[in-house]
Amino acid sequence: MLCSGGYRDREDVTRLPTIADADYSGRTVLVRADLNVPIRSGVVEDDFRLEAALPTVRILRDAGARVVLCSHLGRPSGPDPAFSLRPVGERLAAMGGFPVTVATDVAGSGAAAAVAAQRDGVVLLENTRFEPGETTNSPELADRLGSLADAFVMDAFGSAHRAHASTVGVAERLPSAAGPLLLAEVEAFDRILGSPDRPFVVVLGGAKVSDKLGVIKALLPKVDVMLVGGAMCFTLLAAEGFATGESLVEADMVAAAADVLASADGSRLALPTDLVAADRMAADAAHRVVPASGIPEESVCLDVGPETAERFASILGGADTVFWNGPMGVFEWEPFAAGTRRVAEAIAASSAYSVVGGGDSVAALRAMGLDGAVSHLSTGGGAGLELIERGSLPGVEVLRRTGGA
Ligand code: ADP
Ligand code: MG
Repeated sequence: MLCSGGYRDREDVTRLPTIADADYSGRTVLVRADLNVPIRSGVVEDDFRLEAALPTVRILRDAGARVVLCSHLGRPSGPDPAFSLRPVGERLAAMGGFPVTVATDVAGSGAAAAVAAQRDGVVLLENTRFEPGETTNSPELADRLGSLADAFVMDAFGSAHRAHASTVGVAERLPSAAGPLLLAEVEAFDRILGSPDRPFVVVLGGAKVSDKLGVIKALLPKVDVMLVGGAMCFTLLAAEGFATGESLVEADMVAAAADVLASADGSRLALPTDLVAADRMAADAAHRVVPASGIPEESVCLDVGPETAERFASILGGADTVFWNGPMGVFEWEPFAAGTRRVAEAIAASSAYSVVGGGDSVAALRAMGLDGAVSHLSTGGGAGLELIERGSLPGVEVLRRTGGA
């Protein structure tokens, strides 16, 4: 049942079937994990999601299950060696200390043979997106995936916002449960969206306001303060009537942004008062701090200014619950990383319950060595935002509907 705010109460969360409810001994368990990691020249570049996926594999193996893992990787539209999960299998084996056999296909004869030959190790099916039926949630593919195992564990929070064959279709065909990672993610979002300790402060940044305007609208009534930086703040500043120079503005979103700012909840939204203005979009561009009311016509703003960073940090210092998604500036370039760093430090230093989501935000935290200092590091960027915006995810709902392993 949905409560008035569109978000579920705690009771609903506890009703998710979990792996603690079932006996997996001697069973073959298909685990949908989120192993969608960046790979360059055949090497995994960031293993955050692999680290996050491993505990579930270990728990199931210790329970006597034969684990068959599956995941998508990138967005190939059919079989494509460049998107093979083979490098992921190698990395997982090295991290997990168990053999990993990567099947030659997703749910065909290769997968069936790998599962049949399985002894001690883990089988990793090929990239689910090699099957065109994955994204259309084809019943035929879901049947084939289902025929590989006796039970299903959905642990891919980062893919739970997609109703695909490997997230929803197969859950409708096998006894299914939420994996520990999925559960931890759902509980973290439940905690901040249900009845957060106050003050509840949200920091939003990152690239596009069009991705996140729905999130701003959904969160504004729940927060005490919402701090906005990143490229998305310029559409909001433009809606306030500020000149934004060459900074990224989504012209077709300005009117919608103005509506949000004019709404009753809009007063809780805090925008930057100063910015770092660069003469061009480059790591080595000349730059200076300017007030939000004085952005030069020819400049592009690539970070929030020091006054804004301090104000955001001080507001975060007084928070009891924090949600952060989206960097404050082009943190990949050192001259424009200070705003993101200040926000990350403030969240890390605070005793608030903190949830950080978004691939780039999590990468920034990890690069600063501050990832251990937040309460919950989410593996899902889009999934977390969609959970906030809509109050539910198809990959979680299906477990409530049909679950029980
Ligand atoms: P996340 O992955 O955490 O959800 P996004 O993908 O929405 O974050 O946005 C991250 C990107 O936004 C980064 O690559 C960063 O360089 C960019 N960005 C942040 N601020 C600005 C800015 N002022 N101008 C241009 N790009 C920006
Ligand atoms: Mg991103």
